[in-house]
Parts: sequence; structure tokens; C-alpha cells
Amino acid sequence: MLFSKMFIPTVKEDPKEAEVASHRLMLRAGFIRRLASGVYTWLPLGLRSLRKVEQIIREEMNKKGAQEILMPAVQPKELWVESTRWEKYGKELLRFADRNNRELCLGPTHEEVVTDLVRREVRSYKDLPVNLYQIQTKFRDEIRPRFGIMRSREFFMKDAYSFDTDEAGAGKSYMDMYDAYNNIFDRCGFRFRVVEADTGQIGGSFSHEFMVLAETGEDIIISCDTCGYAANLERAEVGVREKTVPTGKKDVHRRVKTPDQRKIDEVSSFLGITPDKLLKTIIYNTDKGTIAVLVRGDREINDTKLKNLLKLDELELADERTIEEATGGPLGFSGPIGLTIPLYADMDLKFMEDFVVGGNERDVHVVDANMADFTVKGFFDVKVAEAGDRCPRCGTGSLVATRGIEVGHIFKLGLKYSKSMNATFLDSDGKEHFMVMGCYGIGVGRTVAAAIEQGNDENGMMLPLPIAPFEVDVLPVNTTHPESMAIAREIYRELLAKGIDVILDDRDERPGVKFKDCDLIGIPLRITIGERGLKEGLVEIKRRDSKEFEKVPVAEAAGRVIRYVEDAKHR
Ligand SMILES: [Zn+2]
Repeated sequence: MLFSKMFIPTVKEDPKEAEVASHRLMLRAGFIRRLASGVYTWLPLGLRSLRKVEQIIREEMNKKGAQEILMPAVQPKELWVESTRWEKYGKELLRFADRNNRELCLGPTHEEVVTDLVRREVRSYKDLPVNLYQIQTKFRDEIRPRFGIMRSREFFMKDAYSFDTDEAGAGKSYMDMYDAYNNIFDRCGFRFRVVEADTGQIGGSFSHEFMVLAETGEDIIISCDTCGYAANLERAEVGVREKTVPTGKKDVHRRVKTPDQRKIDEVSSFLGITPDKLLKTIIYNTDKGTIAVLVRGDREINDTKLKNLLKLDELELADERTIEEATGGPLGFSGPIGLTIPLYADMDLKFMEDFVVGGNERDVHVVDANMADFTVKGFFDVKVAEAGDRCPRCGTGSLVATRGIEVGHIFKLGLKYSKSMNATFLDSDGKEHFMVMGCYGIGVGRTVAAAIEQGNDENGMMLPLPIAPFEVDVLPVNTTHPESMAIAREIYRELLAKGIDVILDDRDERPGVKFKDCDLIGIPLRITIGERGLKEGLVEIKRRDSKEFEKVPVAEAAGRVIRYVEDAKHR
């Protein structure tokens, strides 16, 4: 490919609207252009990277026996009503009506469509298992699209769906995808981590996320410094910190005046104690009634864990009226003593004594409270994990927090959709059973953006070679120097003949402009052909991720670069 012939609209200045590196650099390097809020056009360079990610995905999916299909973006309401998600999905589901007033939506995901397809076509256990995937455009009407491709409304996804006759088969399908995803992100050249994740809106019983490690990542990964445990923050469990059992009730609690001291830091500084000597009593409204959750003053409650623990569909902080009804006191002064609603305690409370709680009365707290002063339903892991917490698996390691970007997510769905949509098959005795499902997604565009978040510097992108738009830039410093151009063309042709993805920067531009563009676009390897070097028969090879460059004889340049490319692809 000749640089002069390509549509590469690069930009010198940082675009104002871009908050993160990938967004900024994808605009500057001419990868994407914005059409509307959260909706982007992929330009030639960006699309080359996107297609390379797709190709790796296809190869690894096909290796595991998954088969590619292509489903429509437009989906009928009826299927979503069957799965009960027409009501549950909320405003992210973009709904509209056609000219006959038939209601439709733009698919943010395809469980309904694929389940409908398979229930119609598969009758017998002999037709199972089957794993169908597609790479297709999705739409999610994000309330606040931002970060460019990272959180856009229209996006490319690879989504796969497996159907099995039983749990064991579904487990194997899941592990096949687990392996495929590891291979995919390995081949893309990422540093990444697989973490346990919550199943959220998709539903189901078990799931893992694939996180590209990047300091700018939106997601927090909690992992153990000793064993292999890793989970996203939403899901992360916390091990029991101390094994010491409290000595039992020591002091008799008493009520003290705390005028206008509502928040943890206010109360603790007023009483001259640290926040961990306080107990937070949080009142929630749930679909199973009003409850109180107790957690140490310096910790937060993890709503996702709480919902899963109590099997709640709805969970929200109680309003002031509910708090007054449940406790007799105003917001900011709730405490467990004397409450009749169910109390759920974080496990830290097992080891607390002589602590401070709200007095369920304006301007009153209770000091020297103890667990004997009230009755809880039990001790549970309901707090948000933090660095330094004990590992829940090995029980000896400490948890650490790092940042990542979610690029893949795999779910064991079980019978969720096959039951609601009646997807069944007949076994060898002619008995009818529900199919056991799994679903598996990769954000394809997001993968390109994540690569840029993981690899960039002040000069631009540093894309891993397997997914960079070009592998090699052949750069003659002076295009009006005939010998430079002749050698540049020769090396270019030799690389092309060996299947290397190479671009020849034949533009009559100042060298500085060409070097800058090469760095901005993040082409991993550059061969620079300069007049001075040629006098000694040498050209320069430089890797994008290194400051060093090596001078090699003209005749060796192509061979050297081919070896680099092969190494990077089969590392
Ligand atoms: Zn551990």
C-alpha cells in the first residue's frame, strides 16, 4: 500500500471532546470519525485493525467448532416479551415501530433471536451440541456515550451461543470458549487477565470477564497476590480477616448526644474515634420488604453481592419516610438496637466490640454497643473488596487492586432462555428436555480501543503487531533522491512478496512529518532509507516500542524485519 494513495486524515491537535487516550489517538491517527453521539465511521486504518481482530476471532472460534452465522440487527418485540426482557431491559433497548405499527428493537444482544432459531430447527439430541456465532453491529442506547469507541452506542460484537443436552456438555462448551478467548487475546498481543464476574442483566449462573490491563481502565480487578483468584470489583469476595473471637459483651451501651452529626466522618471526629469503631446501618427497600444491612464504618456495601445473597430483584436505598417508619429516627441516625426489620451483618461484625451505632433518634448515637444488643439474621460477605483484604480462596494471600478494560465476557446461561422461550429437544427415549445454553461476547471495536489504552506514549499509539493496521512502514527520507526510492521500492516489494503487511511512505513530505505519522499510527516496525546511510550501504530498522534503532546492510533489511514479524505473531 502506498501512503500517498491512502485516505489517512491525521490531525495534529488533540481533539477537545476526547477524554481518554484511545479516543484521542483514534481521532488523531485517522482511525475513526464521529457521525452522531456514540456513533462512528471506521476509516481505512481503523478498519484494518478491526478486521485483523475479527480474523483472529474467527480462526479461534472455528477451531473450537463454532459456526458463523449472521443475524439481523432489527428484532421483533414478541421474542423479547417471551424472554420477559421487553420490560426488564430499560431504556438502553432502542425501540421503534414500523409503518404497520409493529413494535421492533435494535438488538443490543441476540439471545432471543438465536434461541428462536435453534428451537425451530433442532428437534433431537443428535443435533446437539451446537455453537453459533456472528460478528455483527449492535446498538445500545447508552445514557451517556463517551470515550469514543470504548463506550459507543453502535458497536461491533462477536457473540456466540452454545446449546447442549445437559450441564456436563454445557460445561465443556463453556471451557472451549474459555480456551478460545485466551487464545484470541494472546494472539492479539495483549497483557490481560481472566476474572470471575457477575452475570448481571444477561442472567445465568456463572461467568468470566477478559480484562485487558491498562491504568486507564474503567474496571477494577481484584486479585490475590498468592493464589490465582481474580474477580471484578462487583463480584469480588472477601475472606475472613481475623480469626480472633471477641471476648463477649464488655460494657453496657449508653446513649450520647451527637447534634447534627450524621455522616461517618462527622460522628467519628465528634466522638474522637476512628471510623472503623462505628457501625453503618443502611436501610434498603427491596422486593422482599424493608431490610437493614450493617457494615463497619470505614467500608461500603456491595449492592450486587447483597442482591445475589438475598436473591433480590430490586434493591434501593430507603427514602427518609421509610427510614423513619422502620427506625423511628431520621436519616443519619439509624442503628440496629430495637429494630424489628431483618438485620444482615457483614462478617467483620463478628469481631467487633464496644462500637458506635445510631440511636434511631435525632442527634443521638449509642456508644459501647455490642452484638449481644441486637439480633442479626447472620454474618455475610456484603462489603466492597479493597486492596489489603484477605483472599477468599486461599485464605492467606492479600487482595490487590488493578485496572482493566473488559473486552470479552462468557456466561453459563443454564436454562434461563430455553425455559422462558421453550427451546427443547427429544432424548434417545423420546423424552422432552430443555437445552442448556451459554453465551459468549467480545467487543471487537473495543478490543482495538483497549489495545491503544494499553499501548501508547506521547507520540501516539503502540499497537501490538498482530492487530496494527500495518506491520511495517518503509520510509524513504527524501523521495526526490532516486537511489533512496529505488531501494525503498525494492524492500517494499520483497516484504509484500513474503506476505508482510507493509506501507511505503512515498509522500513528498518533510521527514519529520513522516516520522510523526508513523509513530502516531503506531506502526510497529519502520525501515528508514536515508541518503547518508546509503553511502555506507546501510538502512535503519526501528521498533515503535523502543528508542533504539539498528543499522543493517540494505540486503539484510527485509529478512530482518520478516523475522521480527514472525516472532511477534507466534510469541
Ligand atoms: Zn488467594
